[in-house]
Amino acid sequence: MDHTSAQAERVDMVIVGAGFGGMYATWKFREMGLSIVSIEEGKDVGGVWYWNRYPGARCDLLSVDYSYGFSEEVQQEWTWSEQFAAQPEILAYANFVADRLDLRKHYRFETRVESAKWDDKRQLWRVRTSDGKLLEATYCVMSTGPLSKPTDPDIPGLSRFKGLTLRAARWPHEEPDLKGKRIGVLGTGSSGMQIIQTLGRTECELFVFQRTPSFTLPMRNRKVSDRDVAELKANYASIRAACKMNPTGGARPVSTRPFFSIPADHRQELMEQAWQHGGHTFLGIFSDLMVNQAANDQVADFVRDRIHDTVNDKALAEKLKPRGYPIFARRPCLDTGYYETYNRENVHLVDCLEDPIVEITENGIRTQSGEHELDVLILATGYDALTGALLAFEITGKDGVALKDKWEGGPRSLFGIMMAGFPNLFMTTGPNGPAALANIFTISENDVDFIAGVIAQMQAQGQGAVEPSLAAEDAWMAQIQTLASRSLMLKAKTWWTGSNVKGKPQGMSMFTGGFHKYREACESVSANGYRDLVFEPAPALETAAR
Ligand code: NAP
Repeated sequence: MDHTSAQAERVDMVIVGAGFGGMYATWKFREMGLSIVSIEEGKDVGGVWYWNRYPGARCDLLSVDYSYGFSEEVQQEWTWSEQFAAQPEILAYANFVADRLDLRKHYRFETRVESAKWDDKRQLWRVRTSDGKLLEATYCVMSTGPLSKPTDPDIPGLSRFKGLTLRAARWPHEEPDLKGKRIGVLGTGSSGMQIIQTLGRTECELFVFQRTPSFTLPMRNRKVSDRDVAELKANYASIRAACKMNPTGGARPVSTRPFFSIPADHRQELMEQAWQHGGHTFLGIFSDLMVNQAANDQVADFVRDRIHDTVNDKALAEKLKPRGYPIFARRPCLDTGYYETYNRENVHLVDCLEDPIVEITENGIRTQSGEHELDVLILATGYDALTGALLAFEITGKDGVALKDKWEGGPRSLFGIMMAGFPNLFMTTGPNGPAALANIFTISENDVDFIAGVIAQMQAQGQGAVEPSLAAEDAWMAQIQTLASRSLMLKAKTWWTGSNVKGKPQGMSMFTGGFHKYREACESVSANGYRDLVFEPAPALETAAR
């Protein structure tokens, strides 16, 4: 059904997503006085944490980082119980924020955006949703998240399997009964590892189908003591300020010392200490791990030695050791007893490099050596990341140009926030910012604040449309490419570079220069009087109508 403009609902802004980016955008733009409709496919808030409720789901960023800094009420009233929070606690936090800031009233849940089309004459976006409605909005903010479109593996026969198929990224809300079952887990990234280390300790027979072994570091999670909480709450302001200056956008300190500038025995000591301390500390002890292959090799050897020490069966330990790509060139995982899980008799590794998967059958998975019969198949096979959710519906900009055409060779934008040819359309944690490489909360707050600054500028000057100049966008993309060419990250096949999805443009689209440099680049735009952006005055009629 087509709609005329008379049937359309006119608002200032449509926001897509009820993850942490979308929720902050909803609060911020409401506080600016804009009329808002926020759209979310899930039944409630939480984004990725609403969907990912698989056994063992837990964030591997420190809770202090994985939380908002913009609201003093929220950070003082909420108390994290663990250093690394589990999914139920993170989802409870999302619900707490939605209630505390009264965000739900702006949301239309269980609703998808089907298309968004720019009307250049009227300077607005026409947004069609799955409930058959048409919204007309001056601004659109896409907070669709870097990891929200899960992918199934390209293995023949997936639909033939007669047992129970479960997806990590779409775990059922009613807990399935897995007790005593033969369970196959496909995928050994962050999701797969958490599932394996959790289910492996339960009463079941677990078959892990591993293609590429991942590097993982011990999380060493612990409860947050009352004293820690009091200290944290007294110091939030300085912690948040420090996060903004940090390449990770988080509280974890990052060294400025290159690996080989430190004597060998001291390097070893630092690695031992970081291993014992746990978390991502290891990532921060040397400054050049992602640009110096020789340094990276030595750190990778240290971690491989820990696998050797932990796994009793030394032949099995060899199969679990990641090789052939630099450590940290794929997203590092944090685990709790992952390798120890393989010392249990009910946990079996199927090395799919040695014994490749041929097909999925009615009864399980057939590898070259034979069929592995299963009652349950768990897919932890990752995401069409960074761009997948944005390309899942039609976005059409100026002159009828589709986003999929603009991004044919890979995503292009200014900061992953704005795109030439797509006026008044904004993204948070978009594909050309630090996205997956820094703290998603710090990036989301930065991006939403940047957008708010642009809109305030438009309002002050009576502008109706804004987009970045092509020159500014090109310069930003060139910077991304230059930085990426120096990084070891390109040496691994990973969702960071799009190589996990067939036919997807390959390459590093994210800004690898660190959150602090990204923030400085964003801030320079307003400091330069928004010279990098192109504004169009508002049409007289639309201005008068509002
Ligand atoms: P992922 O890291 O992309 O891992 C996908 C896994 O599926 C890989 O092991 C991959 O093997 C395997 N796979 C895909 N297709 C396959 C096939 N046809 N045959 C065999 N194996 C196949 O996905 P993820 O584990 O969901 O993690 C994605 C990201 O989400 C993480 O990097 C992280 O940023 C985030 N995450 C974070 C947490 C946390 O905070 N703790 C937890 C979960 C996820 P190959 O590598 O060989 O392709």
